[in-house]
Amino acid sequence: MTGTCGSCGRDDEDVVLVRRLYVTPEAWDTPGKVEQGDEERWCFVCRTHYPHEELGQA
Ligand SMILES: [Zn+2]
Repeated sequence: MTGTCGSCGRDDEDVVLVRRLYVTPEAWDTPGKVEQGDEERWCFVCRTHYPHEELGQA
């Protein structure tokens, strides 16, 4: 699917439906955690740079 990336805003990218993940690293006083964000369409570059869960072509 070609479209606009929901993360970086580039046009004409090969985008895939993903769910953004907000990763909090573990610290001395708090355990690490992963929170789920919104469904977005991301290009390949953003999928390699940012944590996410791939939902597939949609
Ligand atoms: Zn992007």
